[in-house]
Order: sequence, then C-alpha cells, then structure tokens
Amino acid sequence: MPGVLNEYLKNNPGVCTCSICQEDILALTLNELPPHYAVSLAGEIFTEVSLELIGGKAQIVSVITKNIKRVSNNPRHK
Ligand SMILES: [Zn+2]
Repeated sequence: MPGVLNEYLKNNPGVCTCSICQEDILALTLNELPPHYAVSLAGEIFTEVSLELIGGKAQIVSVITKNIKRVSNNPRHK
C-alpha cells in the first residue's frame, strides 16, 4: 500500500485505491508540482514514504491529499 495514500486512508476509509485511481492521483500531482520536484521524487513519496518521514515535503503531501480527494470524489472508472 502506498505510503501517503495509506496514511490518508487511516482517516478516510472507503477511498478507492485501485491502480487506475492511484495512477490518476499521481498524474494530477505531478502536473501541479513545481518543476524542481523531480518526477521520481513525487513518485517515491507517493508510493514508499510515510507522512511522518516527509514533514519537510508538506507542499507535496498537500497536493497529493487534495488529488486523492478529487479522484475519490470523481473516479475515472464506474
Ligand atoms: Zn478506483
């Protein structure tokens, strides 16, 4: 289970975590991050690092969290 997504799910059960939704969340997040954040960095945070370990990356976390909400409220699949 992805790190940031897993942390979010602890407080928000019921959010879809299928591969389609995960890809959408990450794609939206990468589109919004400032250019100096490498794609690999955002992907790593999303998939492997827990919120507790990335306190200095609050901007990324906030974007990911926002996009989790966006995708879960309007998933690409039915
Ligand atoms: Zn889904």
